[in-house]
Amino acid sequence: MSKKVLIVGGGIIGICSAYFLKKDGFDVTIVDKSSMNTGASYINAGYLSPGHIIPLASPGVISQGLKWMFDSSSPFYIQPRLNIPFIKWLLAFNKSCSEKNVENSIRPIIDLSVFSQELLNQIKTENQMTFHYEKKGLMMLCKSEKSLCKEEEIVKKAVESGLSAKMLSVDDIKSIEPNINIDTIGAAYFGSDHHTTPGELISELKKFILDNGVNCLKNTEIENFEIDRDKIKSVKISGKSVRFDEYVLSAGTWTSKICNKLGIDLLLQAGKGYSINHHKQTGITCPAILVEAKCAITPMNGFSRFSGTMEISSINNKLRMNRVNAIADSVESFYPSIKIPQSDRKSAGFGFRPISADGLPYIGRTKKLKNVLIATGHGMMGWSMSTGTGKIISELISEKNTSVNIDRFNPNRKF
Ligand SMILES: Cc1cc2nc3c(=O)[nH]c(=O)nc-3n(C[C@H](O)[C@H](O)[C@H](O)COP(=O)(O)OP(=O)(O)OC[C@H]3O[C@@H](n4cnc5c(N)ncnc54)[C@H](O)[C@@H]3O)c2cc1C
Repeated sequence: MSKKVLIVGGGIIGICSAYFLKKDGFDVTIVDKSSMNTGASYINAGYLSPGHIIPLASPGVISQGLKWMFDSSSPFYIQPRLNIPFIKWLLAFNKSCSEKNVENSIRPIIDLSVFSQELLNQIKTENQMTFHYEKKGLMMLCKSEKSLCKEEEIVKKAVESGLSAKMLSVDDIKSIEPNINIDTIGAAYFGSDHHTTPGELISELKKFILDNGVNCLKNTEIENFEIDRDKIKSVKISGKSVRFDEYVLSAGTWTSKICNKLGIDLLLQAGKGYSINHHKQTGITCPAILVEAKCAITPMNGFSRFSGTMEISSINNKLRMNRVNAIADSVESFYPSIKIPQSDRKSAGFGFRPISADGLPYIGRTKKLKNVLIATGHGMMGWSMSTGTGKIISELISEKNTSVNIDRFNPNRKF
């Protein structure tokens, strides 16, 4: 009999875990408290970006957060709160904002995201999937010399680590993007980065797992966990006690709440972000990040998506129009021919990035409960690292060696 696996949380990480577990012959159930069609895995910028080699926890991030704390339209905001999990996370995050953390994170970030790109290409070809996927690279557009110098340092590190990256002049940018005027003084370019239309990709993966026998319990939450010594024995779902052999916790930013119920301390905060879909023709063909505004531009299938803001705050469903407007205004400032109407701004979507205490994901078995695995904390990189994470989860449950070294992703790591 094949092992029964319960995946708690069916965003992109849960779905990719289900994909590989099912392929490896497990009996898989996903339980998700939502209808599985909203949140970070649907509204993200769609980048598969090994070029994002610098983890969120890096020098200068806390001081930038403090500087922007009183600016309600800033792209990065940490909401101060007298809340123990937040304070514990902040202390650990602050400690991780070091050069050492950056140096020790570059290799694991590249390895997992390059592996994930390879897997996604394989999944697309093997299953003849048709979701939108392009390999155009990513420009980091700058308005100031200071930003350009910082980008140059990152390009140097990326090239040293084996990625394709270079600096671009204004003329180079014009030849990449000839059909739209961009107000910039130069850019970094990461040729390694790809992009997708998230809704298309996740719909096809969801259809695949459902067609192949994954049991999906939507709008459902676990009512209770029954623990027997160092294992979860069963869970109560819709009033019934059900046993599984293994439990994968991939509930994004909510995973720490589930861990809390199990007596596992997982340092995780929500990083809220917004995105605006714009259906008018823009002429944009190459993805770009507006460096000073921390805003992402993605030419998706039939529309452009503009996303941004990292609001580390309590989980709330407020659409903060000042932040949405700041994203839209920065797009208009870099691309003067684009005008984003109020209707687009008002229908902006939002989602929560699961932010770990050092900017690296938590992937692996927990020490406390032997049949519990964690797969979360990917922050800004959850889309890029999703297939690799799913594959690793299946390898761990199959008791195989993992394809990528996961020492730095250990969910039991101390800060
Ligand atoms: C604006 C924005 C842009 C982004 N752009 C990019 C990008 O370009 N590239 C990139 O790599 N990453 C990007 N990200 C990050 C990426 O989207 C996330 O890291 C990723 O989607 C996280 O996936 P997840 O499956 O862990 O979490 P989620 O997508 O949040 O899914 C978690 C699921 O768990 C469910 N759940 C919660 N609690 C429970 C419970 N108690 N029981 C059952 N189910 C539960 C939820 O309903 C949800 O369906 C972006 C994020 C944002 C917000």
